[in-house]
Parts: sequence; C-alpha cells; structure tokens
Amino acid sequence: MAVNGLVSLIGAGPGDPGLLTLRGAEALAAADVVVYDYLASPALLAHVRPDAERIYVGKKAGQHTLSQDEMNALLVEQALAGKRVARLKGGDPFVFGRGGEEALALVEANVPFEVIPGVTSAVAAPAYAGIPVTHRGLASSFAVITGHEDPKKAEPAVDWSRLATSVDTLVFLMGVGNLPQIVEQLMAHGRHAATPIALVRWGTTPDQQVVSGTLVDIVDRVKAAGLKPPAVVVVGPVAALRKSLHWFEDRPLFGQHVLVTRTREQASVLSARLRTLGAEAVELPTIRIAPPEDRSPLDQAIVVLPNYDWLIFTSVNGVRHFWERLALAGQDARALHGVKVAAIGPATAAELEARGLRPDYVPDEYIAEAIAAGLGDVRGHRVLLPHADIARPALADLLCQGGAEVVDVTAYRTLQPEIETDELCDLLARVTVATFTSSATVRNLAAMAQGVGLDLPRALEQATIACIGPITAQTARDLGLPVQVMAERYTISGLIEALIRHFKIA
Ligand code: SAH
Repeated sequence: MAVNGLVSLIGAGPGDPGLLTLRGAEALAAADVVVYDYLASPALLAHVRPDAERIYVGKKAGQHTLSQDEMNALLVEQALAGKRVARLKGGDPFVFGRGGEEALALVEANVPFEVIPGVTSAVAAPAYAGIPVTHRGLASSFAVITGHEDPKKAEPAVDWSRLATSVDTLVFLMGVGNLPQIVEQLMAHGRHAATPIALVRWGTTPDQQVVSGTLVDIVDRVKAAGLKPPAVVVVGPVAALRKSLHWFEDRPLFGQHVLVTRTREQASVLSARLRTLGAEAVELPTIRIAPPEDRSPLDQAIVVLPNYDWLIFTSVNGVRHFWERLALAGQDARALHGVKVAAIGPATAAELEARGLRPDYVPDEYIAEAIAAGLGDVRGHRVLLPHADIARPALADLLCQGGAEVVDVTAYRTLQPEIETDELCDLLARVTVATFTSSATVRNLAAMAQGVGLDLPRALEQATIACIGPITAQTARDLGLPVQVMAERYTISGLIEALIRHFKIA
C-alpha cells in the first residue's frame, strides 16, 4: 500500500495566537504543507517549519476562494502525495467550520486524518469582551446558532419558536448581515425587547470592537458604529455583565499593532510582552545573524586570551558567537581567568551570567561611550573587543585615545533578510507603532523598503516611531523617521515602559 499522508484539521482559535492548543502547535510543526485562510492569525505560521509549503485559501471579501469541493480535493491530493497536511481552521474546526465535510471527504478517499479542537469564537470572543456565556443565576444554558440563514425563507432550518426562549444565552456566528431579522424573530417569538445583546467584532485581537444594547436598539447602535463582520452576536442577560467584567480593552497597549524588527530568534521576548499588553506583535525580522566570513581573527584572539586585561561585549550576539568559537577551541570560562569582562547592558550581562561569568563592569547608561568612560585608566591595557561587522567604531576609538591597545575582531555579521514586496507592504500598512532596537534594524528596514520601491517614512506615516536609545533614535531621524518615543533605560523593558507611558498620555 502506498504511504498515505495525514491531514490534521486544526482549530486555530479565534484570533489571539496564544489561544492555539499545544496539540495544534505540534501538528503545525510536523506539517509539510499548511492550508490556511484569513481567520487564522499570521503569527500561527511561526510554528510552521521554514521549509514547509504554505497555501493561502483566502476568504476575505473580494478574494478568490476555493469552493468546498476544491478544498476537499486539495487536501486529498496533498495527503495522497504522502505529505503531512495541516489544515488550519478559525476557532474550532467542527463549529461552523465545515470541518465535518472535509473529514468526510478524507474518509471517502481513504486518507488518515485527525481533528484537533480549537477555542471557538462563540465562547472566546464573548469572554474577551467580559461576557461569560453561562453565569449562576443568569444563564444555565447556551446555544451556538448560524446567523447566516435568512430567517424569512419558507422553511428555515433554525426553529425560532423553540429557540427564542428555551436557551438562556444565544450566540450567533455569521450574523451581522442578518441582525435586523434575527432581532425581529427573537422578539416575535417571545424574547423581551429589553434583553441585553452585544456584538463582538474581531474578538481576542487588538481590533476587538464591541457594540452593546438591547434587542430594540441594537440595530441602530450597530449601524451608528458602522460595525462589520466578522462578529459574534450574544443575546441574553449575561451580555450586561460586560459593564463590570470588561478587561481586554483596558490593557495598556490594546489596539496597537507593533512592528518588531529584531532577528527572528530575539523577537519572541518583545513580542510576548507586547501581546500580554493587548497589542499585536507584527514580526518583521530586519536582521539575520551569520558568522563572520573570516573567523581566524577571533580564533587567534581566543588562543592568546590570557594576554588581555579586558574583554568587552557590546551585544548578546557577540557573547554567543565568541562562546561558540571558545567551545570549538576546546575551552570554557576558565580561559578568561585573570581577564576582566565588561558588558554593555543587562541583557548582555545575563548572557554572560548564563555561562557562569559575572561581568566586572556594566555601565549605567547602555551605550558604547559609557563603557569607555567607566573602565577608568586604560593606559597600556590590552582590550579585546568582539563585535558585529557593522559596529560603530566609537568604543575602540575612545579606548585608543585613552592609551589602550585595542584588538577589535568581527564576531558575527548582520545581514539583511529578503522579503516579498506584497508581504512588506501588507505588514507596514497594518502597523501603528514601529519599534527599533538598534541602528541596524532601522537601516535594514529602510533598505528593505527601498529595495521594493517603498519610501519608509511615507509607509510609516501613520505609525508612532519608538527607539531603544539615543543612537538608534538618531539613525531613525537621519533616515527621515520622526521619533516620538524613546526608552529611558536602553533595554527592551525600558522600551516597553516608554510605550506604555506614551499611550497612557496620548
Ligand atoms: N469555526 C469557527 C467559526 C467559523 S464561522 C469558530 O469556531 O469560531 C465564521 C464566523 O465565526 C464569523 O462570521 C464570526 O461570526 C465568527 N468569528 C470567527 N472569529 C471571530 C472573531 N475573532 N471575533 C468575532 N467573531 C468571530
């Protein structure tokens, strides 16, 4: 028998990428092909192997969509080619996701499959709006109903007479367009006009928008707010609990789409913090770290390490690459016996401490000039400075002026990643805040934009520009970006604090 693939029908959750299940993440990581649509957060694709194929099947209004038959055929074809296929479906695959139909087609074609349930928008969107679908004393049942059907058609599948009053909380999916008819049917079949109701659009995302009211006034309120799909409609006394239980929109960076320009490996810390603050982290790595073309200067410096008085690290990457070569030379921290070590800031210091080394010196201000000032009298001292290929020469110059003998070696290179024009345009158009954590991130983003014919200052016209420190800010200004936010402490935490302060006042 031919080796068949496997199709995983994966619930992608309602939007917040943190609401993917652990099983879902495992299946994404194992997939050879991923099939996804617009309801799946782009951040979920971070779980996918870089070499896996990605097939976008649209669904945003105006875009070509696969018919269900074409979709089923696509899944069968890929699996029969022996691939592991991840089919990402918004929310839960079996809640109005047509997951059942896809599973039946797979059974018919004899393709093995699995279903990985997801967090459905029917429960999660209300939850992020502060509406529990059940609540002691208010609601002991809830139902999830399609709002897509025209309630006036001759034989509606939704039995309004039985539904309207038999379940305490009613949650309609796909119901924005039919809201007037839904409300009318509910009242016609016995729901009180004063029943609370809320619509939650893009629930669990930074674009979450909620319109609340009662059955009599909700249609006007929704019209006034201009609320469009996708949204869930929650009907019942629990909808009024939002007044006391709202929480998600109160987060300090709610509503912001924050561009994260660090390397893919380093982005995650900043991205995770932004998400817990209510923002979307839009990751666009502008730097790819690679070993130096010529490793011999670093290797030679490592051979004569005990000759140095100071070893100065100005970045986390510098520590990592230095250590890699040290280890390859068969050495460890003991090789630094008698050599004093300095780190430019707390992250670099932590990277050293993780390797059993406590730096002798970390300046109060995390820039190169501050290190030079803090080392004291360096006359006659030998200083080893492993750095990035593009590092500013300021530190080496200052130390030389102070009479030190400086050996500066390239420990790693910073390269500029490639990007498709469309992808870059889409990403930048979404951004409301752009963060830069080094001059290289600004310069590379400007170069990437220019490479596809975009003017960066114009593309980021609507965005707040936030920089980690004065050097990065100056680079941004030199490239025509007006810097509105700068960290007081030149660290990732300092940058986040500065953003929170900025939006509290704004
Ligand atoms: N399987 C999905 C539902 C698919 S039907 C689930 O379990 O959530 C598509 C409908 O889901 C949309 O029309 C909208 O009503 C709802 N929906 C999906 N994601 C949503 C979100 N983030 N916020 C509000 N409604 C959402």
